[in-house]
Amino acid sequence: MRLSRYFLPVLKEDPSEAQIVSHKLMLRAGMIRQQAAGIYAWLPLGLKVLRNIERIVREEQNRAGAIEVLMPTIQSADLWRESGRYDAYGPEMLRFLDRHEREMLYGPTNEEMITAIFRDNVRSYRDLPKNLYHIQWKFRDETRPRFGVMRGREFLMKDAYSFDLDAEAAKKSYDAMFVAYLRTFARLGMVAVPVRAPTGPIGGNLSHEFHILADTGESEVFYDAALEQIGLAEMEAATPGSAVVDRLQSIYAMEQEEHEKVTDCPVPADQLRKRRGIEVGHIFYFGTKYTQAMGCTVQGPDGQVLYPEMGSYGIGVSRLVGGIIEASHDASGIIWPDAVAPFQVGLINLRVDDAKCADAADELFARLNLAGIDTLYDDRDERGGAKFATMDLIGVPTHVTIGPKGLDKGVVEVKDRKTGAKEEMSVEALMNKLTARRA
Ligand code: ATP
Ligand code: MG
Repeated sequence: MRLSRYFLPVLKEDPSEAQIVSHKLMLRAGMIRQQAAGIYAWLPLGLKVLRNIERIVREEQNRAGAIEVLMPTIQSADLWRESGRYDAYGPEMLRFLDRHEREMLYGPTNEEMITAIFRDNVRSYRDLPKNLYHIQWKFRDETRPRFGVMRGREFLMKDAYSFDLDAEAAKKSYDAMFVAYLRTFARLGMVAVPVRAPTGPIGGNLSHEFHILADTGESEVFYDAALEQIGLAEMEAATPGSAVVDRLQSIYAMEQEEHEKVTDCPVPADQLRKRRGIEVGHIFYFGTKYTQAMGCTVQGPDGQVLYPEMGSYGIGVSRLVGGIIEASHDASGIIWPDAVAPFQVGLINLRVDDAKCADAADELFARLNLAGIDTLYDDRDERGGAKFATMDLIGVPTHVTIGPKGLDKGVVEVKDRKTGAKEEMSVEALMNKLTARRA
């Protein structure tokens, strides 16, 4: 993409409405613009990152055997009356009437809808287990929308729903999602700590929240230092039944509220760590709560009527964009992990007015495109300093600079955004480096 033709409205100054670094940087890097409190338009750069995260989330859901559907954002109030949650949910639910005065709502979550779909289409125990998920916008009229996309009112969530014949099978489905979450967050370049969670309004008996550790997190997490021994590589390689699942599920990790209730602390004080966390995922096993309330049954092997055991599994896809920035930035801007970076390479032509530079930059841009390396090419007539600052701000992992001095020597300058390390190399060497990394 040529920057001269792109839509990248970067801001030089920190916007006054933003309190935390990810919100500031997302506005400055031209990723999002607020349209109403907690409601954002995603501009091209932000959308690319959002889609990259979504793709990794989807790949790991599919790998775990979940099947993708797409449910609507708008739901009927009647559905929620069946579960009893229409009145219970409170003012976080956005309610409205259609032209026929029918009560509708913008879905904050989809337990009711998926249970109704399952009830109306599945008859036999032979069709179990099933896990259905979608990636869809949700609306919750939060009391205090803040921190940009981290606590929005409209936000993108992946939510999966499992149906099993008995509690034992349901625990297997739960563990499969636990594994999928470990892999997903590790692939995003994030350490996400699984924290045993209170089950809240959805109710139920087993639940973990996944928290990215960052100083600006809204929750306080207490955990056993043993957790720090488990590396990203091990999480990314996790499979159902692998020992890391048992280890992580048995390690002490709780949110403050829960931790305070524990009178006899199972972790020695010098082993206990306290950090702030951003909740990026939440998994629940809640049994037959919705299937019973909504009359969702299947016929068992002996003709008996059975209520499927359910779990639900959320990931805050749009929150992750902010969460990753909180965990990965420096004074100059965002540092994207390779897997979610909006572009792999930022190509800078230092001298647009110099025909030799312009030709060399155009030619390298064409080669990068041909090799399938997504490149943002700064071909604007701007000062070098401004171009470097923009690339640093938007956090592209590799910067390549073409200038007259280098060209005379037959080299370009290659900078690693994360370490800041610079080297000079030939275009051939650069192409080898970039294609080898991808292989
Ligand atoms: P929180 O405690 O942060 O309000 P929650 O417990 O209400 O989260 P869930 O209902 O479990 O959240 O939703 C699943 C995931 O959706 C959360 O783990 C979080 O990552 C994301 N999420 C929830 N609320 C928001 C929001 N207002 N803005 C952005 N993401 C959100
Ligand atoms: Mg909430």
